[in-house]
Amino acid sequence: MNKETFPTRLSMLASFLRGSAGYFLASVVFASLASLFDLLNPKIVAFVVDHLLESGNRADAFSWIRGHLFFVAVIVTLFTALGALSRYLYNLFNAKGAEKLVAGMRNRLFGHIQHLPFSWFMENPTGDIIQRCTSDVETVKMFLSEQLTGMLRIVVMLAIAFFFMCGISLKLTVPAAVFVPVIFLYSLFFHRGIGRTFLTADEEEGKLSSIAQENLTGVRVVRAFGRERYEEKRFARQNTAYTGAYKKLGMLISIFWSVGDFISGLQVMIIVALGAVMTVRGELTPGSYIAFVSYNAMIAWPVRMLGRVISDMSKAGVSVDRIRDIMNAEAESDPAGALCPPMDRDIEFSHVTFSYRKDMPPILDDVSFTVKAGTTFGILGGTGSGKSTLAALLLGLYPLPEGSGTITVGGVDVRRISLPWLRGQVALVMQEPFLFSGTIRENIAIARKDAVEKDIIKSAEISDLVETINNFTDKYDTVVGERGVTLSGGQKQRTAIAQAVIRDTPVLVFDDALSAVDAETDVKIRHALREEFRGKTVILIAHRITTLMEADQILILDHGKAAGIGSHEELYAANPIYRKVCDIQSGTGEEAENEDF
Ligand code: ATP
Ligand code: MG
Repeated sequence: MNKETFPTRLSMLASFLRGSAGYFLASVVFASLASLFDLLNPKIVAFVVDHLLESGNRADAFSWIRGHLFFVAVIVTLFTALGALSRYLYNLFNAKGAEKLVAGMRNRLFGHIQHLPFSWFMENPTGDIIQRCTSDVETVKMFLSEQLTGMLRIVVMLAIAFFFMCGISLKLTVPAAVFVPVIFLYSLFFHRGIGRTFLTADEEEGKLSSIAQENLTGVRVVRAFGRERYEEKRFARQNTAYTGAYKKLGMLISIFWSVGDFISGLQVMIIVALGAVMTVRGELTPGSYIAFVSYNAMIAWPVRMLGRVISDMSKAGVSVDRIRDIMNAEAESDPAGALCPPMDRDIEFSHVTFSYRKDMPPILDDVSFTVKAGTTFGILGGTGSGKSTLAALLLGLYPLPEGSGTITVGGVDVRRISLPWLRGQVALVMQEPFLFSGTIRENIAIARKDAVEKDIIKSAEISDLVETINNFTDKYDTVVGERGVTLSGGQKQRTAIAQAVIRDTPVLVFDDALSAVDAETDVKIRHALREEFRGKTVILIAHRITTLMEADQILILDHGKAAGIGSHEELYAANPIYRKVCDIQSGTGEEAENEDF
């Protein structure tokens, strides 16, 4: 832990504590009371031994109590009961605080993740993100609810115990106290070393859950390609790494505890021996000796716990850092004075150059074109030529860096347009449709909460989905399974089209959205769209020329470069690439030379 991370960890913890700090404070107060009641009992024992047993039947101030011993029993019972009540209230407040804390933390994390940019999800594996939101949150909860309150409780308890011990014998308190810093420093020294190992173990755990998660998501591919053995080996390899890291951690922890046990045992034995010597010499009464030894035994465990709490702090520190990584990841936000311009305007890409990573050659290289408002614009290009990237840039899913060209709508740079507005006005049908595990109805209406039955049916008609839906027993209430697994690829694509259609936006982008439907359905959908979307700007991205040929303009994208633009006729007459692709796809050309298309 360096000097800079400590205050930031602290401020993050403090921000998480908002709302539950009161509960934790109350729990510490009751824990301290419980300690106080516990610590009063040895005092009573000392009194009984010294004044009731030792003194025989002497007539003195305590004669009355000797005649009414039940009174001592009542006091002991009362203190024990009050101790139990305090402990109950301590646990109650602690649990309430902890649950409030953890629920708040999860919500904050999840809420923040919802607003992180697309690129962040590319860099962070899902399994790792989930782990940070679950087990790291749990670790921080443990730290705040058990370890931190535990530490305060222990400090209060030690203070009271030492106060009583000093009252009995200062001479005996000194050797007892000497061990406290020894154990404390030993823990401190140890936990520094253990932090690194814990981090490694945690990372290995994250990798393991990422592998499991990826495997489960891709179970179809695994089966279809007979990758089971490979996947098993991959998992086993990571499992070994994970187990190895935890074994090392376990070994370090057991060394820590054994040495700690030894030091504590030594301390207890020294005090028992020294106290016995002092009692024999008459420097201590037997009652005080018993009380002192009891106190010393009572502090032995909390001092050890203090060590544990401190060693666990390193775990919590690592978890706080991992959560902070997410919280510090910059969320997508609108620039100051973000605009909400009308979107039924010309869309212009001007000298757009883009790469996903700085160290990679550009995916899009100086691409310029204009999509006239209210027209249909086709983009044709081989796989990997950058078509989806163009769509992603238009929606601001990836920010276009300054100086890499501009994308404007009606002359307004998309970088200055409010993101929710932009995405609310441009409906994108993604190349890989993703459906949630609800019903078809819910999935269609997902982006338009106010949609009524009529809208849902209409968008299903336009997407040629009605017949399919009517064939299902539950019609629109058919549950589509996780990620829509119970639908075919084409059905999923058409549901995704319906999702976009229902939104009734001025701009629509279909990213290869008709690739999984047959040619006949493709024509049907396109015609329905044309009828419905007269006057809207439609961008059609496709591999299949028939999908695009009726577009007003078609852009040819070749390895990230614009290699021609025009109508079908113009391109067929003047553009050799287009003509070749056209001929190949219509079956009149020679052998497919251009594999990209
Ligand atoms: P297809 O027709 O196969 O969908 P495409 O034209 O849509 O292809 P893009 O998805 O735009 O192609 O990808 C263009 C290039 O960018 C590809 O070489 C791809 O490897 C790369 N690429 C795409 N997404 C990312 C990403 N998130 N990070 C890094 N590189 C990416
Ligand atoms: Mg694509």
